[in-house]
Amino acid sequence: MSNITNADLHCHSKVSDGTLEPEALAQRAQANGVELWALTDHDEIGGQQRALDAALALGMPYLTGCEISVSFAGKVVHIVGLGFDHTDPGMLAGLQATRGGRAERAREMAAGLARVGIQGAYEGALQYVSNPDLISRTHFARWLVDAGHCGDVPEVFRRFLTEGKPGYVEHKWARLGDAVRWIKEASGVAVIAHPARYGFTPTVEYALITEFIAHGGRGIEVVTGSHTAADAVRYTDTAEEFGLLASRGSDFHSPTESHTDLGKLDMLPGRLTPVWTALEERIHRP
Ligand code: AMP
Ligand code: MN
Ligand code: MN
Ligand code: MN
Repeated sequence: MSNITNADLHCHSKVSDGTLEPEALAQRAQANGVELWALTDHDEIGGQQRALDAALALGMPYLTGCEISVSFAGKVVHIVGLGFDHTDPGMLAGLQATRGGRAERAREMAAGLARVGIQGAYEGALQYVSNPDLISRTHFARWLVDAGHCGDVPEVFRRFLTEGKPGYVEHKWARLGDAVRWIKEASGVAVIAHPARYGFTPTVEYALITEFIAHGGRGIEVVTGSHTAADAVRYTDTAEEFGLLASRGSDFHSPTESHTDLGKLDMLPGRLTPVWTALEERIHRP
C-alpha cells in the first residue's frame, strides 16, 4: 500500500498552455512537497519524457499524464489520463487527431475578435505559443491582456472567449469513448477532470458519469484547483456513489495566473480510494 498523500496529478507546461518548462514544474512540485507528480498537458504528451526524467532526477515519483479535450452534450469535457505508456502508438495517433483543427479554429477565433474591432489576434496569440500544434484560448487571453484589451485572463474569458462571446468558436473535440479507450489501451486510468466546471444539469452529469464508466473510465477529480471546498464535498459523495477512484491536482498553469500552486491543496477525504492506489505498478520511482 502506498502512503502518498501529497499527490499532484494535474498541471500544464509550455508544451500546452502553461508558462513553465516541464523541468521547472518538476522543481517547483518537489520544492512544494509533492510526493507523486503528473504533468497533464492538453491533448499532447510531448513533454512526458522530460517531466519523467526531471522528476526522477529530483527523487520524486512520477505518473505519466495528459488532459484530453472531449465534446459531450454540447460542451467541452476534459478527461485526464494517468499512468499510460507514453510511447503507445494508439494514444499518440488519437491525440494528434484531437490537436488537428486547433490552427483553423484559432483563425476563426481571430476573425470573430476582428469583427468587434480587435485586430491581429491570431498573430498576437502565436507569440505566446511554444508548441505550434497547440494554440489554445489561453494564448489568446494572454495576448489580449498584454495588448491592453482586458485587465486579466479571467476577464478575457468572460468577455470574449466563452460560449456566445465574439472570440468563441464551436469545435469538435474527441469522443468520450475514444479518449477513454486510448488511455485504457495504453495501460492507463481515465479520470473525469474538474466535474464542477461543466455546469451540467444532474441528468446530463449522470449521463456523463455512467457513459464514462461504461467505456471503462475509473476515476474522478475531487480536490482540484478548479473546485471550491463545497465542490470537493459534493464530488466526494459522487465518487462514493459511483465507486470511482478519487484524484487530486492543482491544475497549475502559471505562477502569475494560477491561484492554486503545485501541491498546495487540500488532502483527499480519507474515505475515498485515491486513484494512485490503482496505479502502483505504473508509478515511475527514482
Ligand atoms: P482550449 O483548450 O483552447 O479551449 O483552452 C482551454 C483552456 O483555457 C483551459 O485549459 C484553461 O487553461 C483556460 N480557461 C478556460 N476557461 C477559463 C476561464 N474562465 N478563466 C481562465 N482560464 C480559462
Ligand atoms: Mn489549460
Ligand atoms: Mn481542464
Ligand atoms: Mn487542466
